[in-house]
Amino acid sequence: MNNSKIWLSSPHMGGTERNYVQDAFDTNWVAPLGPNVTGLEQDLEDYLGHEAHVGALSSGTAAIHLGLVLLGVQAGDTVLCQSMTFSASANPILYQGATPVFIDSEEDTWNLCPVALEKAVTSEIEKGKKPKAIIAVHLYGVPYKIEAVRAVANTHGIPILEDSAEALGSSFKGQKCGTFGDIGVLSFNGNKIITTSGGGAIVTPTAALKEKAIFFATQSRDAAPHYQHSEIGYNYRMSNICAGIGRGQMQVLNAHVQLRRDMHDFYVDVFKDIAAVTVFTVPDADYFANYWLTAILVAPNEATGIDREALRLALDQTNIESRPLWKPMHLQPIFERYPYYGTNVAETLFDNGLCLPSGSNLTDSERERIREAVQDFFAKE
Ligand SMILES: *Cc1c(COP(=O)(O)O)cnc(C)c1O
Repeated sequence: MNNSKIWLSSPHMGGTERNYVQDAFDTNWVAPLGPNVTGLEQDLEDYLGHEAHVGALSSGTAAIHLGLVLLGVQAGDTVLCQSMTFSASANPILYQGATPVFIDSEEDTWNLCPVALEKAVTSEIEKGKKPKAIIAVHLYGVPYKIEAVRAVANTHGIPILEDSAEALGSSFKGQKCGTFGDIGVLSFNGNKIITTSGGGAIVTPTAALKEKAIFFATQSRDAAPHYQHSEIGYNYRMSNICAGIGRGQMQVLNAHVQLRRDMHDFYVDVFKDIAAVTVFTVPDADYFANYWLTAILVAPNEATGIDREALRLALDQTNIESRPLWKPMHLQPIFERYPYYGTNVAETLFDNGLCLPSGSNLTDSERERIREAVQDFFAKE
């Protein structure tokens, strides 16, 4: 039997990517600018709608960093951040010399808890410092509670940095994720829903903000014949080669979202008779998830020895990759000394949650291997 590795999420080319890359070589646009860069930005603006303006950058992390810069976050400021997320959501807070304050998840979407958020805002204001920004994340492509989080932000006049790195193709009430924040962020890393091999984008509500983002991303050059700088600059622009891959990927984005959603349906079926497992699913029809990764919760059972880790190890035995959920930031050695507001929902999710292979390129026989491995494991129950 074929026992090759089944990955959590691997790059899936559509076929036309090479043509755009070839074109970049043919025209010698081998630089962090060029027709593929502007083409990809246009494709993304058309896709997102909602009059979004998009600047292509070298990574999603760069987009988060520039987002904080655009929102005026400076040394000593406080930034609220969803605790359960990838570290790239939070690291740029430290790049700016600001202080992260971490917020718990709620159980419906596993994202920013509006109740804990409100508590954090009011108590940080009482301590004398109004937070400068809120970083909200759509984990695994499931939109956060858009309206409740926005209500807290608006009540206190705090902008939202929307980390949509995992949620290109997701939407809420028909509006695309990436367009809900005062600034939005996309990622095209190798494991994301589409890839440029590495890359990201910043999404802004105005053309002026996009221009400012690109200004910062290209070393903040003032208008002068020589190199003149009045502000800190960064080298964060996307390469025209990478953008070529992105142009090809945009042509298959909707198809690949559908394939990821099919993987989610597959897991709902696999676990339908297994009471110990809950498949992470959107709360209601207002939410449309790309299901970048399908995640499950495994109820631990001391008598049978069944828990998240036992399942992970069993899958690993048959060369199937799976991974615990993002370890909350307030539990990470680099961040544990910063404040945290919550009731340990994120901890419990982390203890019991597992991400399963979810790529748009998985085959029928790989799905059958996964099904068998799961059934063998739970047969021991
Ligand atoms: C991938 C990811 C990022 C970072 O994007 P890169 O392009 O890898 O820098 C940020 N936030 C979240 C939630 C992510 O999953």
